Amino acid sequence: MTDTVAYLDAHRERNLEELFDFLRIPSVSAKSDHDAETARAANWLADRMREAGLGAEVLPTDGHPVVLGEWREAGPDAPTILIYGHYDVQPAEPLELWSSPAFEPEIRDGRVYARGSADDKGQLYMHVKAIQALLETTGSLPANVVVVAEGEEEVGSPNLVPFVERMRDRLAADVVVISDSAMFAPGQPSLLFSLRGLAYVEVHVSAAKGDLHSGAYGGAVPNPATELARMLTTLHDAAGRIAIPGFYDDVVEWSEETRSAIRALDFDEEEFRAGVGSPGLHGEAGYSTLERLWIRPTCEVNGLLSGWTGEGAKTVLPAKAMAKVSFRLVPDQSPARVAELMEAHLREVAPPWVRVEVKELHGGNPWKADPSGPLFEAASVALEEAFGRAPVIVGEGGSIPIVGDFERILGCPALLVGFALPGCNMHAPDEWFTVENYERGTTSLCRLYGELAERLGSAG
Ligand SMILES: [Zn+2]
Repeated sequence: MTDTVAYLDAHRERNLEELFDFLRIPSVSAKSDHDAETARAANWLADRMREAGLGAEVLPTDGHPVVLGEWREAGPDAPTILIYGHYDVQPAEPLELWSSPAFEPEIRDGRVYARGSADDKGQLYMHVKAIQALLETTGSLPANVVVVAEGEEEVGSPNLVPFVERMRDRLAADVVVISDSAMFAPGQPSLLFSLRGLAYVEVHVSAAKGDLHSGAYGGAVPNPATELARMLTTLHDAAGRIAIPGFYDDVVEWSEETRSAIRALDFDEEEFRAGVGSPGLHGEAGYSTLERLWIRPTCEVNGLLSGWTGEGAKTVLPAKAMAKVSFRLVPDQSPARVAELMEAHLREVAPPWVRVEVKELHGGNPWKADPSGPLFEAASVALEEAFGRAPVIVGEGGSIPIVGDFERILGCPALLVGFALPGCNMHAPDEWFTVENYERGTTSLCRLYGELAERLGSAG
């Protein structure tokens, strides 16, 4: 490792300049008039992978191509590490809110400002540079390595699952490493141990065949707005728990060890409250704010629609009402099961004088890692050495469906180790990534591959 660290140190400038070149290519996957640029980013990345010592191909999909990098000289008996990242970026608009142009990277106060610096070009490119450093200083890698860089993450990865399914044999791996997330705080390396899933339903309540005069009919004909509101209030109890029968059946209760690790994080509740601007915080009784965000499921009304909502008074008895309701799910809940329970509950609480229709819109599975398993152990050693501090575990309230998809299709666990920082403006103007994390993170990845290979090797 000493040689590899010295090599990275000697090539700091080059590694930054190359990242700048990558960031200058506006590979905005959502915009078809940028398709040539997105393709250019894929080819640029494949060229840099080849320079790093990987075999690289740009493989077509029905959308933007996948760049596949491979190094298999560790042999068929050695473990295989699959690295996933994306070379596409979010649109940069609104451009006028950027302090420097989105595709002209600039360093200010130790931060690289550019679209894609944190999400995800910077973090993806660290892996390429780590691989190159190891190959140039040791002549080999501690495991077989496959890099899958997609160009459609920012538009929902429509072609990635079919790609992984089609390439299942070639992509067979012992672990999927993903660097596309953030650390808990500056200088504090972090490992992601859970992601929430999603179930989304639309509820329609109707009564009369059309809107009616609220004087001529009100009081005798049911009001769908009132009935829907009443039904929605049955979704939670007074303690903030979700009151749908069976809802918690599949919810994993995390160990006391994990919960105390979350409680030990330096999290300022009052700063969080002030940041969102609400007079108070409220959620499920018995859990801290971070636990409510990371390891507990939610039920949220996302939208309500009924009757007259325009200017002035219109005395209407609405014929229908609609609510959009989503659930953030935790392991081992399933979106289909939750949608089913929701529908059964609504039918149970709905009065017989209205019609109820429940439509399932879409869903995504939650994900969890084993914080006491060998992958976290390997990452802890690598991160602590590079950052001088042991990593903490963090959850993510949002959803990244592809993580579960990789595990399901390839039958191996995922390890999420990210190097962005809170407030780094992913998807927003003035996105940034620190030079320090780019460099320290690259060093930690060199060590990570070795630590992973050691543990995966002994597991077969
Ligand atoms: Zn990303």
